[in-house]
Amino acid sequence: MQEALLYEKLGNQKVECNLCAHHCKLAPGKFGICRVRENIDGTLYTHVYGRTIARHVDPIEKKPLYHFFPGTQAFSIGTPGCNFHCDFCQNCEISQVVSPGILTVGQPATPEEIVQEALDRECKSIAYTYTEPTIFFEYCNDIGPLARDVGLKNVFVSNGYMTSEMLELAAPWLDAVNIDLKAFRDDTYRRLMGGHLQPVLDSMKKIIQMGVWLEVTSLIIPGINDQSRELHEMAHFVANELGVDVPWHISRFFPGYKMHDLLPTPIDTLQKAREAGTEAGLNYIYVGNVPASADQNTVCPRCGATLIERVGYNVLGNIIENGRCAECEYKIAMVD
Ligand code: SF4
Ligand code: SF4
Repeated sequence: MQEALLYEKLGNQKVECNLCAHHCKLAPGKFGICRVRENIDGTLYTHVYGRTIARHVDPIEKKPLYHFFPGTQAFSIGTPGCNFHCDFCQNCEISQVVSPGILTVGQPATPEEIVQEALDRECKSIAYTYTEPTIFFEYCNDIGPLARDVGLKNVFVSNGYMTSEMLELAAPWLDAVNIDLKAFRDDTYRRLMGGHLQPVLDSMKKIIQMGVWLEVTSLIIPGINDQSRELHEMAHFVANELGVDVPWHISRFFPGYKMHDLLPTPIDTLQKAREAGTEAGLNYIYVGNVPASADQNTVCPRCGATLIERVGYNVLGNIIENGRCAECEYKIAMVD
């Protein structure tokens, strides 16, 4: 247990947590919505510092980040808990903390040990992922600078519900972020995630302003966010507010957790989303969770040459030379 960052004391031993957009106000003995931060006698503590519940080496493409050191490995860690409660969560066993007991599960590791393990396993980056890195930010904030010192990159895979204060604290060591844009309706965010849309949009804009590499992922769920109008709104937000070079990952939904009654997203719907991205002017659109789809390749926006060929999370070939298309020398938006 460690004292939390980014909270203020309100008097009468109450505290307000300013780590995420919920801004939980907690009386003594109370946990926040994430169920991992607790007010103990007027001091806010995090219960998820220094222990991982998931720790693996993954391709960076699995995050997904397709324009950030493609073909490299990311040492990926997560702790229990999340500030959202998505009905379709694929990691619900570890993201949804139903009892404080789960907080003591996992493997202890100091920040130095995490960095050393990433080096030993020949990774290019450390990815804070699986659950929501915002809620284990204190741990990230101690690992991140150490990782930077030895040449490792730091990557967040996030729902985007952090505060701008948190992003500013992370700015000196954060290199890339993938944010889920889960819908373009506040009502959907309230009903299915337990949050609001606007803070997520604000985080994405802030990340661009900070000069941190950003990619966006939208899971397209039948009957939830698959209407043409909403797909166009999402695509236009990415293109107009973030930039046409921000990669947009359109991801296929499969039934799970509290959404067993729906069918997988039809391929036609994913194509409709893809067309919305093209119409908005996006240069890099990917379709994920569809085996052997050519829509996972990186294609030159100018001449149409296939530059990075992918199957699943594997990079089969990369003909980008000095950041440019090998055929027409168009500058490809990429960190490498
Ligand atoms: S991280 Fe978010 S959900 Fe958790 S206590 Fe802080 S404000 Fe609440
Ligand atoms: S934000 Fe991600 S980890 Fe959290 S509940 Fe939603 S899908 Fe699960």
